[in-house]
Amino acid sequence: MENVKRIVVKIGTSTVCHANGAPNLKRIDQLCRTITDLKNSGIDVVLVSSGAIGVGINRMGLSERPKEMALRQAAASIGQGELMRIYDRFFTDYGSLCGQILLTKDITENPEGKNNVIATFEALLQLHAVPVVNENDSVATEEIVYGDNDTLSAVVALFTDADLLVILSDIDGLYDKDPSKFANAHRIRVVDDFDSIDAEISDSNTSQGTGGMITKIQAAKIAAAAGIPTILASGKNPEILYEIQEGRQPGTLFAAGKEKA
Ligand code: GLU
Repeated sequence: MENVKRIVVKIGTSTVCHANGAPNLKRIDQLCRTITDLKNSGIDVVLVSSGAIGVGINRMGLSERPKEMALRQAAASIGQGELMRIYDRFFTDYGSLCGQILLTKDITENPEGKNNVIATFEALLQLHAVPVVNENDSVATEEIVYGDNDTLSAVVALFTDADLLVILSDIDGLYDKDPSKFANAHRIRVVDDFDSIDAEISDSNTSQGTGGMITKIQAAKIAAAAGIPTILASGKNPEILYEIQEGRQPGTLFAAGKEKA
């Protein structure tokens, strides 16, 4: 992808964490190393990372996601700190700066708030730091949530005027049928026309996070409307970002309008 100078990478909870919510250190290590390498080659990278609630639940010794909102928000509060510590440690090891940005919908939908956030992203990127973004889950209530980090990542791609959104997930692309149910399901390599996506493609949601396939398609749609293509690919090995850099195209590419791609 020759013209890609700035990318937003979104990574989901089931990719960042083990099944019990404990952080997957090997994967986070690979992610931080690969992102630093991309940055060293001149590409700006913004990371949208889920996992705060999962990591917090694990730290609190709970076996499942609490039903009570205050406890979920406490889990996010504990987990977000832990997650940032881990990101900071690995990024520092590889020579990158990173900075946390926690967003809520009300701030970013308010013109002043939005401009402030955009300026903060720009300042971090000028400093060659990696902005590490999540929803501010410990304060967000129903009225002010994006609700899932897929949508949030598309909003961040717009705010940072990114050239590409990459969603790294526990599924390696969009399939014509649910691959967990149908052995003959095929991965769709390119989606040119969002209207052609069959609603029955299924909203397979096997992850510990809140997003499913529908939120990923919606995120790609938001990005495409702003001329930003999206690649949905497996996050199992974050070095897949090199393949994207080299123009090989793993996963599914949701093409954007001609404006920017
Ligand atoms: N913001 C949530 C977290 O960090 C994840 C939301 C999502 O899975 O999309 O735990």
